[in-house]
Amino acid sequence: MDQKDKTPEKNAPSKSEESTVISMEDNKTDKTKIKKEAVKTDESDTEKEKNNTKQQNMKSKNSQTDLGKFFLDALQDIYYAEAKIEESLAKIKHKATSEELQEALEDHELVTKKQILRLEKIFKHLGEEAKKKKCDAIDGILKEVDEMVKNTEDGSMTRDVAIIIGSQKVEHYEIATYGGLVQIAITLGHEKVADLLETTLDEEEETDFLLTEIAEEHVNFDAAEEK
Ligand code: FE
Ligand code: FE
Ligand code: FE
Repeated sequence: MDQKDKTPEKNAPSKSEESTVISMEDNKTDKTKIKKEAVKTDESDTEKEKNNTKQQNMKSKNSQTDLGKFFLDALQDIYYAEAKIEESLAKIKHKATSEELQEALEDHELVTKKQILRLEKIFKHLGEEAKKKKCDAIDGILKEVDEMVKNTEDGSMTRDVAIIIGSQKVEHYEIATYGGLVQIAITLGHEKVADLLETTLDEEEETDFLLTEIAEEHVNFDAAEEK
């Protein structure tokens, strides 16, 4: 270890001249600290009990309030959506022209699989069954993506433009959903769930950013050269 880390100030602060001058103040602070720590210990003693009760009440609480019900519905909606997105990515990755886009779609397919497992973890944490609820929005967006792909030529860069725009519509739907869900989870006091949802939100935002980069650096200029 460094000599710096063993300085007397760190180990015995009350013996320096300066600390004598402010020792009364220090004393007060120490007492407050001790009190606070005592309260903390009391809290941690009962914390386990509290958490158990919380977990037990979680399931009924979820369906007791309108916001709780709304939150569950929205989770079931995005759980359905992610499954459809995974299916779509598995198909569409073979239709992309550029290697960069193919790779990005393949990566996001794997990320999407993880997100589905993460949602299952969230349902479990809430004491709820993982259920899917039909999401008309994602069905519509994915239908549009399919049409855009069909209307572009195989092996063309215009095809990639279509896939990128379509995929970004999907990502933006997800960003809007997860962004809202993170905030509701915080409001409902589901901190762990909020963290999990935020991880997914970050992944969707990264993907959106990457798709923009691929469009700007590789695809759009080449597509503009096509007839
Ligand atoms: Fe996703
Ligand atoms: Fe939806
Ligand atoms: Fe996504």
